[in-house]
Amino acid sequence: MEYPSLLPRFLKYVKINSRSDEHADRFPSTQREVDYQMVIMKELEELGLSDVHYNEKAGTVIAEIPSNVDWDVPVMGFLAHCDTADFNSENVKPQITENYDGESKIQLGDTEFYLDPAVFPNLKKYKGQTIISASGDTLLGGDDKCGDAELVTFAEYLLQHPEIKHGTIRLGFTPDEEIGTGAQHFDVADFGAKFAYTVDGEGPGKLDWGTFSAAQFELDIQGVNVHPAVAKGQMINAIQVGIDFQNALPQDQVPEKTDGRQGFFHLMDFSGTVDNAHLAYIIRDFERDGLESRKDLVKQIVADLNKKYGGDRIKLKMWDQYYNMADELAKHMEIIDLARDAYRACGMTEINEDPVRGGTDGSQLTYMGLPCPNLFAGEENMHGRFEYTVLESMWKAVDVLIKMSELNAERAKK
Ligand SMILES: [Zn+2]
Repeated sequence: MEYPSLLPRFLKYVKINSRSDEHADRFPSTQREVDYQMVIMKELEELGLSDVHYNEKAGTVIAEIPSNVDWDVPVMGFLAHCDTADFNSENVKPQITENYDGESKIQLGDTEFYLDPAVFPNLKKYKGQTIISASGDTLLGGDDKCGDAELVTFAEYLLQHPEIKHGTIRLGFTPDEEIGTGAQHFDVADFGAKFAYTVDGEGPGKLDWGTFSAAQFELDIQGVNVHPAVAKGQMINAIQVGIDFQNALPQDQVPEKTDGRQGFFHLMDFSGTVDNAHLAYIIRDFERDGLESRKDLVKQIVADLNKKYGGDRIKLKMWDQYYNMADELAKHMEIIDLARDAYRACGMTEINEDPVRGGTDGSQLTYMGLPCPNLFAGEENMHGRFEYTVLESMWKAVDVLIKMSELNAERAKK
């Protein structure tokens, strides 16, 4: 269905810079995120939603679409994040290509950059549709302003169409998803839903309920620095110890050599001198056991090297980041089925449930007691200048939210 207010709303949102900042020591990480959230909050108030408020501790704008049925329906929630990724987001100038022919290159503004179907074959799927991109110097911010605009448009539609029967629906607009810190502040009790969905995914038909399990570690290596002339048998070069550690890991289990369901160790930072070296890694695995054995391997290599070089030369700091939500969602398959049924009812026959080689806010929320798969929002080429979205995909996402609301109420009646 067409929702006339969706495009102007989306264009208004993407023009507001709401980039998060992983180096900030405040929460939410930037004031501009909060300023943007206030724009959404004002709109929710004007549309007449209930219980519209900003939960300061959680940095979340929360609102309710009240139930319009006289039976009990499990409270369902939808979430979208308000920050954008770590890429220039100042002065976003959205560019609209109507009735795209499915084969031409789309120039981004007057820059040397193009959306080229030879490079980005997904574009071919959108022949005849409306492509919204940025203009070469910035990202678009469709991740996740697609989700933001879809949720507000969905709420507006339900309030204007009381003939559509639904239970209580809670909406949440969260900060700092892109830097991975937003979800840990989330206030599950105040949000008040029994289950929820983030609306922050790719094109129509994508349904995410499997993610990596993730850990992170850092090595601090203390060397022994003596003059190279008399170093024999005395110098311990911290850089070399770091190289030894890296070489002891399975060399084919790195991001650039893995895909599908394979996990990896990823060396993200390596800096140092003879005296001291610092290494930072992330570990990813779809299986929880797999994550644990990778962590054990790291501990084992550190222990071996400490034995070899003597003392407590390598200090290891390791912590878990999030777990594969599939393990937990397997206990709540009815909420996956609800999404699947809504997708099909909205004409998507092929549902892509490939696990995400990453995490979502839902990976953390699911383990905080709010089961939370991720729905498609129409995002393409996220996180850079080639980002785009498709108006028809966004309309379809709103269709799905409405259908899920109806189905959830129908099921509770039986
Ligand atoms: Zn996102």
